[in-house]
Amino acid sequence: MADLARIVAEIAGRMAHAKPRGTVADYIPELAKVSADHFGIAVIAADGTEHVAGDADTAFSIQSVSKLFALVEALSRGGDRVWDRVGREPSGSAFNSIVQLEAEGGRPRNPFINAGAIAVTDLIAQGTREGIGDILRLIRGLAGDDSIAVDGAVAYSEAATGFRNAALGNYMKAFGTIDGPVASTLDVYFHQCAIAMSCRQLARAGRFLAHGGVDPRSGRSVVSPERARRLNALMLTCGHYDASGEFAFQVGLPAKSGVGGGILAIAPGRASIAVWSPGLSPQGNSLLGTAALEELAQAMGWNVFNPDI
Ligand code: GLN
Repeated sequence: MADLARIVAEIAGRMAHAKPRGTVADYIPELAKVSADHFGIAVIAADGTEHVAGDADTAFSIQSVSKLFALVEALSRGGDRVWDRVGREPSGSAFNSIVQLEAEGGRPRNPFINAGAIAVTDLIAQGTREGIGDILRLIRGLAGDDSIAVDGAVAYSEAATGFRNAALGNYMKAFGTIDGPVASTLDVYFHQCAIAMSCRQLARAGRFLAHGGVDPRSGRSVVSPERARRLNALMLTCGHYDASGEFAFQVGLPAKSGVGGGILAIAPGRASIAVWSPGLSPQGNSLLGTAALEELAQAMGWNVFNPDI
């Protein structure tokens, strides 16, 4: 796929100097230190060929992309019990919003907004701080890379300033959505968000979603084909918070973003794609990451509405 190599290189070349670059998240002080100049992209084709460019091997804070892996872990442990406490509808509200929780009986709209992710992580934490080890093991196994780790400074920075997340956790506890002590659930949540990965590692970890739940590297079934379809559906409808509709309109691929500026996108049957650029849109999604995915999807004809994909 010579074209893909050229397209990836060209996109990275354009994004290196593109303006405007968006605003780096500063509500987590440690993230505010990262330069908006970064841009990285990794595309792993179905045959395993890796096309990377820019800062593809620089680790960044995956933040809300971790919500996808935590959901996989919670589903594999508790099956559909997850859906007793979290919905599957786009929220139309900001990722850290509390406003729907009261009106909707403490049941978050979906697992990819903060409230929903905290409720999912609570199923993994089960009252201890150990759950982070299971999420990390899952990600390391998928990426085939044991060097992936939590950035302790980011986790600490988030815990020290995570008042909104604490409010969401406590509010859900009052409704009975959360079982464990809020403090230990939040501790696992802050640590999962602080996992640091490069675009290459993230794209490797996402490959099972592009191939019906099977990791093509190991041949191992990570999730059933049905679960892979459902995870992709959630990414398409809820993966970009209150800009999920806009992302589907612009790009047309299932994807999950994080305020560290990373996005994992899936071209079913074709590729697992990770992009990173720390400058964000007002809704908290990577500005250049989104632009790069739009260009790549257009150039390759990769979108879930293309009958020939
Ligand atoms: N750790 C971040 C938070 O809880 C994750 C948010 C995000 O990436 N959108 O605020």
